[in-house]
Formats: sequence, structure tokens, C-alpha cells
Amino acid sequence: MYDPISTQYTFPCPTRGEARIRLHDFRELERLPGAAHPAVFRVRYACACGEDHLGLVAHDELDWAPLGLGGGDFLNLMTDRLEPVEGEFGDLAARRIGAGEWPWSFFCYPEERARPVFPSMFWLLAPGGRGGTVGVAVRCPACQRLSVNIVSPEHVDLPFHNDSAVGVVEHLFREDTERAIAEFHDELYSAAFDVRRLSLQ
Ligand SMILES: [Zn+2]
Ligand SMILES: [Zn+2]
Repeated sequence: MYDPISTQYTFPCPTRGEARIRLHDFRELERLPGAAHPAVFRVRYACACGEDHLGLVAHDELDWAPLGLGGGDFLNLMTDRLEPVEGEFGDLAARRIGAGEWPWSFFCYPEERARPVFPSMFWLLAPGGRGGTVGVAVRCPACQRLSVNIVSPEHVDLPFHNDSAVGVVEHLFREDTERAIAEFHDELYSAAFDVRRLSLQ
């Protein structure tokens, strides 16, 4: 379903049959209760036909497939350990992670620091920022709180392509899901964000 060369997912489209979707075309990700090995996410994605559709994507397709890793691999954010590694992409990804590079990162506003992250921790995405930027609401793997960053589409789509600086919405989001969604859209189009350097060092 994910092609690491074109960095696109293939999803169904009711009018065109098939849609090629990049990560930044996702609009909302929700982990479904129940399935755990692997976890399954319901994804709402913006299709080229002009409509949003719903699709299902497994955790490994979301986080590991862009790194060229097959199912069953595990990257532990606490120990920085990745094993086992499969294929050329996976080997390269493992070496870069071993050298301290992270495939995805974001700026955690409540903690005032950059953090590594995986696509499964993205929650809401919205296009339409200045210069083609994308707003991303991220659930921090360390503090569990929400932050909204304004980033380039490549920052989302391409592993190891981290913007050197990102826009950070200066807002502490509520835990209530519906309110947080409303706040995400309100805050994104207000000018109340600041630019922070995205360095994990
Ligand atoms: Zn469609
Ligand atoms: Zn945090």
C-alpha cells in the first residue's frame, strides 16, 4: 500500500477507483480501539477527486513503511533501538537513526523543545498555510500533550527531511477532542505563532 520510492500510499477512491496519497494529504488520524498487533488507524484523507474519504492503515504502514521497514520491526523511542532491520532502505534508516538523526520531529510547545515523533502521532493536518505550508497537530510521545506546528509538506512526507525551523502555534490545547479540533482550525488561521528552531541536538 505504501511505495517508498514515490512516498505515496494507495487508497481507494469511489469515483476514480484508486488514489495516490501523501502523508500531508491526511486530514485526521484516529487509532481504532481493539486491534493491537498491529494497531489500526482510521485515516481521513484529501483525495485528488476533491473529496475526503476514509481508509484504514496499519501502524507499521504508517510509521515503518516510509523507512523501508517490513512488518514486525520495532523502533523504541526510549532506547533508540531498532531491530531487526530489513532491506536497503531499512539499513540506511537504521544507520541514520543510530547517528542521531530522526525521521520525523516536531516542536513540543508545552515542553518548549524539539522531540522525535512518528506519523502515527500526527492527529490533525490542514493545508493552506502561507507558502504552501501545512498545519499539523501532534500528540507528544513524551508528555502526551498537543502541539500545532506549521511545516512544509516535505517535512511531513519525507523521512529525514526535517525543516530547520517550524512555526509553533502558541496555544495550550484542551483535552476535550471536539474543542481541540475547533481550536486547531481557529488557531491555525490566526497569526499567533512563532518560529522555533527544530534541532534535536
Ligand atoms: Zn476520491
Ligand atoms: Zn511534549
